[in-house]
Amino acid sequence: MFWLAVASAPEQLTPMADPRLLIEERLGAGARLELNEAQTRHAGTVLRLDAGDTLRVFNAEDGEWRARISERSKRTMSVRVEDFLRPARATPDLELLFEPVKRHATDLIAEKATELGVRRLRPVTTQRTIAETVRTDRLMSIAREAAEQTERFDLPEIAEVVSLTKALDGWRLTRPLIFADEEGEAPPIVDVLRTFSLAEKVASEREPDEGRRHTRGVATLADIGATERPSPPTPSPQGRGGLSLLIGPEGGFTAEERRMLRALAFVKPVTLGPRILRAETAVIAALSLIQGLWGDWRA
Ligand code: SAH
Repeated sequence: MFWLAVASAPEQLTPMADPRLLIEERLGAGARLELNEAQTRHAGTVLRLDAGDTLRVFNAEDGEWRARISERSKRTMSVRVEDFLRPARATPDLELLFEPVKRHATDLIAEKATELGVRRLRPVTTQRTIAETVRTDRLMSIAREAAEQTERFDLPEIAEVVSLTKALDGWRLTRPLIFADEEGEAPPIVDVLRTFSLAEKVASEREPDEGRRHTRGVATLADIGATERPSPPTPSPQGRGGLSLLIGPEGGFTAEERRMLRALAFVKPVTLGPRILRAETAVIAALSLIQGLWGDWRA
């Protein structure tokens, strides 16, 4: 039976239609919350809430609760938590390594990666990166609004900017890094993702050696290329280990970076088709395929 929830008067809105607000404090029936100035401004102007209105408050520990605004002043709002609505749902252990691009495009990457369920955003610099810095606070507020809207329960972590080589140093060998290589000569991303789902039984049976890591100082590029390293067991959100995606800057990767990346056993080069996508387009396209074939878009 399919019930069409027809919301007429506001009080008859189904709880799911109420706006959501991420609250760091612990949530429970009867809890009283004092929103800070930023939260009050957001609740009042963006969510257009006033005294007496209901909303949904949530966080990754306590899930989502229905709450009601008991009082509102210019700078604060008092909120009373009422009923439990649903438990929190974790996002898959999926992280995105990306180069800071122009501000609008970086903002877009933060928003879309949040909606697409990335757990960790890791800005990295490469030889052709144009923007060396990232406004982490700005990206955090974009990710927060996106998490509220997209019905996530957690905020993505946003790491500090580091160089690509530093990000790879100490990489856990059980965590594949999907390397979107616009130069081609790589298998389609769908084929690589399919090997993950096919082999996830192997990954869950084999006790992955969590300790093994890539250490930059140990070998030169030639040594790395020469030694045959067993490719790591492949992860799935249900199995062990996570998955990472690397998208390059507007200028793409240099031949030296490409060689360095392809010499690493945990790096899986993929193509996203015959057309050169903008970095932000490549992020959205690749994350969508990952969630659809490996991540939590599958039951
Ligand atoms: N150097 C390119 C632009 C790079 S696009 C140019 O000719 O202008 C930015 C990033 O998006 C790339 O580094 C790559 O990671 C990803 N990307 C774009 N198109 C891709 C494709 N067809 N296959 C794989 N990755 C792609």
